[in-house]
Amino acid sequence: MSCCKKDVAAVMQQAFDMHKGNKDGANASYIPFLASVPSDLCGLAFVSVTGEVIKIQDVDYKYAIESISKIMTLGLALEQSGADAVHSKIGADPTGLPFNSVIALELHDDKPLTPLVNAGAMATVSLIEAEDKEQRWQKILAFQSALAAADIELSEDVNQSEQTTNAHNRAMALLLESSNRIYSDPLEACDVYTRQCSTLFNTVELATVGATFANGGKNPVSGKQLVSPENAAHILAEMMMEGLYDTSGDWAYDVGLPGKSGVGGGLLTIIPNVGALAAFSPRLDQFGNSVRGQLMIKHVAQTMGWNLFNSK
Ligand code: GLU
Repeated sequence: MSCCKKDVAAVMQQAFDMHKGNKDGANASYIPFLASVPSDLCGLAFVSVTGEVIKIQDVDYKYAIESISKIMTLGLALEQSGADAVHSKIGADPTGLPFNSVIALELHDDKPLTPLVNAGAMATVSLIEAEDKEQRWQKILAFQSALAAADIELSEDVNQSEQTTNAHNRAMALLLESSNRIYSDPLEACDVYTRQCSTLFNTVELATVGATFANGGKNPVSGKQLVSPENAAHILAEMMMEGLYDTSGDWAYDVGLPGKSGVGGGLLTIIPNVGALAAFSPRLDQFGNSVRGQLMIKHVAQTMGWNLFNSK
């Protein structure tokens, strides 16, 4: 697959113009703060594996990355413990279920199915080697910053909003404990998981994370090798299997690229060896995926011929 900056910019503008007026879907409301984000914001960014950046519209607005944090903490766990150790505790199989499904805990008799839904994501947090909760959190935050090539910060407002409404996730952490599938204090893991979801990225920073994974784990902006090429490939495989919740299969069928969405309205898609497209638009479909984000990225990917399953 190839990339020409001029073509990509024109196609991105076309995608934005086609879909900017779409008002389908609604902001996430189960986290009160997210309901208050202006719904009409819309941005699209591309960062190439050589560090070229293309920006359309609201790409400087900072929003909570939510579930997209899961791929970053997975990267840290893979680097710290090695892929075999992580995979022996957390699977790589699609759940076909919502991101917060309790049933996802029951489908596999020895481990959570995937690090990309809440159960497996909290187990992944608990695997991060640290002396205590604060050190674990600081390691995760530092890794998010390294991947974004920016100083990433926690939003106290988002975190407060989530920590006070996350009874469901706390219950799942305790269920993980009851079956010996979480590797730190369960409620501490839930607390750190909730913080990692509550950090703010803009859309260029999000695309920079993706460009790192598209580039064999080397950040094209900072030049730092943050994950090994082998671990980058594992992350992309997990994204392909589970990155868009219940509709991951539809995304693979239509777009054929690893993606990861968050209920804050972010959507990241990776074109290996080319770069990453990130979109932000807060209105979500019923599964928790950004409506305009999916439409814009799908248009760019299909027009550019970026599909890992294309054989011509
Ligand atoms: N913090 C959110 C939760 O755990 C993340 C959900 C998501 O983006 O999928 O409910």
